[in-house]
Amino acid sequence: MCGIIAYIGEKNSVQILMEGLKRLEYRGYDSCGLAVMAEGAPYCVKTTGRIINLEKKLANVNISSRMGIAHTRWATHGKPSEENAHPHFNKDHTIFVIHNGIIENYAILKRELMKLGHPFSSETDTEVIAHLIEEFYDGELLPAVLKCLDKITGTFGLAVFHAEEPDQIVLARRGSPLVIGLGRNEMLAASDVNAILRHTDKVIYLDDDEVAVIRRDGFQIMSLTQETVYRTPEKVEWQIADTEKDGYPHYMLKEIFEQPETVLNAFRGRIIPEEGVSKLGGLEPVIDQLKHMKRLIVVACGTSYHAGLLGQYMFEKMTDVDVDVEIASEFRYRNVHPHDGTVVLAISQSGETADSIAALREARRKGALTLGMVNTVGSTIARETVAGIYNHAGPEIGVASTKIFTSQVVILALFALLLGRYQKLSMTDGAGIIRAIQQLPEQISHILDRADHIRAIAQKYYKYNSFLFIGRMCNYPTALEGALKLKEISYIHAEGYPAGELKHGPIALLSPHCPVVAVCPQDSMYEKTISNIKEVEARSANIIAVCTEGDDKLTEITRDIIEVPATVEFLNPVLCNVPLQLLAYYCALYRGCEIDKPRNLAKSVTVE
Ligand code: GLU
Repeated sequence: MCGIIAYIGEKNSVQILMEGLKRLEYRGYDSCGLAVMAEGAPYCVKTTGRIINLEKKLANVNISSRMGIAHTRWATHGKPSEENAHPHFNKDHTIFVIHNGIIENYAILKRELMKLGHPFSSETDTEVIAHLIEEFYDGELLPAVLKCLDKITGTFGLAVFHAEEPDQIVLARRGSPLVIGLGRNEMLAASDVNAILRHTDKVIYLDDDEVAVIRRDGFQIMSLTQETVYRTPEKVEWQIADTEKDGYPHYMLKEIFEQPETVLNAFRGRIIPEEGVSKLGGLEPVIDQLKHMKRLIVVACGTSYHAGLLGQYMFEKMTDVDVDVEIASEFRYRNVHPHDGTVVLAISQSGETADSIAALREARRKGALTLGMVNTVGSTIARETVAGIYNHAGPEIGVASTKIFTSQVVILALFALLLGRYQKLSMTDGAGIIRAIQQLPEQISHILDRADHIRAIAQKYYKYNSFLFIGRMCNYPTALEGALKLKEISYIHAEGYPAGELKHGPIALLSPHCPVVAVCPQDSMYEKTISNIKEVEARSANIIAVCTEGDDKLTEITRDIIEVPATVEFLNPVLCNVPLQLLAYYCALYRGCEIDKPRNLAKSVTVE
């Protein structure tokens, strides 16, 4: 969700901020802006729409600046407009603020500030921050920011400067990520390491309720009560090259094609084939508690939630653990009672998903052991959980998650295997599962080699406006994920259903105008799913079938067949999902959609 970048140093800040904004674009936004100190005076420019519009506005402006802040906004309060874009400022245009999050008590504060004579120029919640700081300002920015933070409720990632104190930028965090980048004679801050990776790989993540001051040659972190916080910088393991498109037209396609490697990275060094078991170093500190775990609650959102649903089938198959999978935004408000031995696992690519973080905190409050599975090292979920597992899949820039989904599913298989081997799974069965996992990278490559075939199917179907995706057992979450991918990037209406549920309602939608994608590999549900597909055929809907190589029943029903190699039952979703990612990608391509930046969507959903 929206992005923040701040720079103070010796270089041209406008250039660095603009470049940083471009690296934040993938997070999703609707307007943008920047404010810099230029030869003693502040300069601020904002626009609706894309960063290129900001570039156009800056094209004929010649400013020399060594510090400033910039922002991509994802509107929560007030429509996307130039006035509502950040930075926001006070009446004298001396205090400039960028903000990610929501100020919940802004209305009341705004009323009070207006009574005190502060003129508002936007509809945003953020603008109150600029006026409130002005209200408290007495020649020093930091104390004024601290007093302001004391008054506001809600969430914030914040960067502020004052024109009369151009040697510093003040940062603050509650609920929205902020990372400081430590350079030589320069400091940066951003909501996402991608924005600063070109300049430094030495970073410090701020925790909630921390405030920081960055200067060209140093920084200071403190709590809201001004106690100094000492924290050692971390090294980011991602390279700048990982964030490039590498010759692919879109990040999404690049990431789909990276899956043989990211799936390999998910299990590399984490399996012991001869013992038929996995080892997950990140879970070792709590392994004794996990061995006796009775109940696992997975909390997640979107694609990660679908991965969690697949985990449920795997745990049922391999362990004695009862698994519930919960949508984080619901779980956080439910009154769930984690009894002794309940473990709560949050799954999130970014590790910053606001709903999942809140769900975790609620679970921790009630005494559950909390675990995380995230891709972003050092993210909030990684830091707030007792133990966890990283995807090690490199940055995922495409808003629609692809490589992280398959990586999550493989890691959940390893997790279930780990516990299963303490419980009901034999060494031989464990070894069989490992063999199947080891084959996945090559099998995925094999599917990707036939991308043109999937492209041809997409070309045939991309004009339809509604799709159903069906599957049974672990192919039901596959259907959910396939439908989600299609709607996210091509804006085609799509629903995922358990195939057996068709007759209880959705069958009413079937017609030649509503194609059905049937996920039907040869597993224990094969015959049952075929019967459901027959029901679809009888209603004259077109069928696209994802099936196991060599299938001869489905070829009699439809010509639009996508074959995947055979694997064990609960790994079918990994293989069946890859062609569905490609199907969504090519449909979006034919429809002329902005694939890497789908409308209204944000990559890392840091607001509730
Ligand atoms: N709530 C603020 C606004 O609507 C910030 C939104 C954001 O995080 O981009 O301007």
